Amino acid sequence: MAPLSGVKGMNDMLPADAPLWERFESAVKNVAQAYGYRQIRTPILEHTRLFTRGIGEVTDIVEKEMYSFTDRLNGEELTLRPENTASVVRAVIEHNLLYDGPKRLWYFGPMFRHERPQRGRLRQFHQFGVEAMGFAGPDVDAEVILIGQRLWDDLGLSNIRLELNTIGQPAERALHREALIAYFSQHEALLDADAKRRLQTNPLRILDTKNPAMQDLVNAAPKLIDYVGAESLAHFDGVQTLLRETGIAFTINPRLVRGLDYYNLTVFEWITDALGAQGTVCGGGRYDPLMAQMGGKPAPACGFGMGAERVIELLREQSTEDVDASSCDVYVVHQSAPAARVAMRVAEGLRTVGMDVILHSTADGQSASFKSQMKKADASGASFAVIIGEDELLANQATVKALRADDSTAGSIGGTQQRVDFDKLAEYLIDALVSDASL
Ligand code: ATP
Ligand code: MG
Repeated sequence: MAPLSGVKGMNDMLPADAPLWERFESAVKNVAQAYGYRQIRTPILEHTRLFTRGIGEVTDIVEKEMYSFTDRLNGEELTLRPENTASVVRAVIEHNLLYDGPKRLWYFGPMFRHERPQRGRLRQFHQFGVEAMGFAGPDVDAEVILIGQRLWDDLGLSNIRLELNTIGQPAERALHREALIAYFSQHEALLDADAKRRLQTNPLRILDTKNPAMQDLVNAAPKLIDYVGAESLAHFDGVQTLLRETGIAFTINPRLVRGLDYYNLTVFEWITDALGAQGTVCGGGRYDPLMAQMGGKPAPACGFGMGAERVIELLREQSTEDVDASSCDVYVVHQSAPAARVAMRVAEGLRTVGMDVILHSTADGQSASFKSQMKKADASGASFAVIIGEDELLANQATVKALRADDSTAGSIGGTQQRVDFDKLAEYLIDALVSDASL
């Protein structure tokens, strides 16, 4: 059979990239924890109607980006989740998670959208997100924004800026929508095909157009802010005051809208110029109407979704550290069939006390030459080789060799090579590794 390739737009994460992903994943976990957010994991497959209802029938995602199919066995309409907010809200309702008060939640995982693959735009991509459920005040809007800022700081990313807007309440948007439809209808000849389609379905999205030919038209369109009421404006002021208080820089972008239907009041995006066209690394805001829309008890909510691949791309560009550095402590080398058996036991003993150990693997129980094993040990990046040959076996000892030539631990173990009793080996290596790490 001819070898298969992966599905277009769906990437493998190879070991060389693992350190970047691990760094991102551990940073998001730590930051979420620092704000009292707890992890939630929902299935990748959901009923299609969760998204058609939850995200809105006329959003780009639902109209053309979903991986939907009919289950062959029972006829259920299913969809690979294109985003996670609808799923989290579904789970919160299904398990009545808000019964004893509001909840701070976070998630990380793959999402699926059938888009045209390009830089920073994949068909399987990953999102880190937070959802603060049951909180109505502007303090929580500010909090989810602070989470983003803290993450950039933790990751050493400085070229990401914050844009902020308010889109008011649904009733206020309805008035603005009528004004927009009237305005764009008057100028229908100037609309592109996308805009014509959106005119009756989602005219607010026309404002988000990337078509340069429509910029003048869009700039002169009725502004949502002129339809936003006093209470909504007070909420927006509250968010801005807290951001100033905590030293978060932002710009107000009156044209910022979100691609999903369920947002209200605060919307925001974190944007970078370092990634070309796909510069939005994180988008979020308030979505107070969603709980009730999905059949739950009404509850205000606020959150964001962050594109992991885009952030990792920034990490890759800014990273000066050698992310390919070694990860194992000890490489075990052995020189006969009986030594190989003992070596396995020795390696297990070292792992039990917490060391990362690679045991040289031999075909057919035959040991490779000492020289070739030592070459592998060197290449593994291990700090020490543990050598078990015939002599060592007879003496119930191993030879420990410091592998890094510039390794000052060599001094602490009295030379580059040292015989150590099997039953003292773990203790000896722990000491050696500790002094290694403290140098
Ligand atoms: P865009 O305007 O780039 O299509 P969006 O509005 O569809 O973004 P959201 O649904 O808000 O994006 O998702 C939140 C974040 O997830 C985005 O800001 C982006 O970083 C990331 N993201 C969205 N779609 C993709 C994709 N196809 N590939 C990689 N990352 C994505
Ligand atoms: Mg999109």
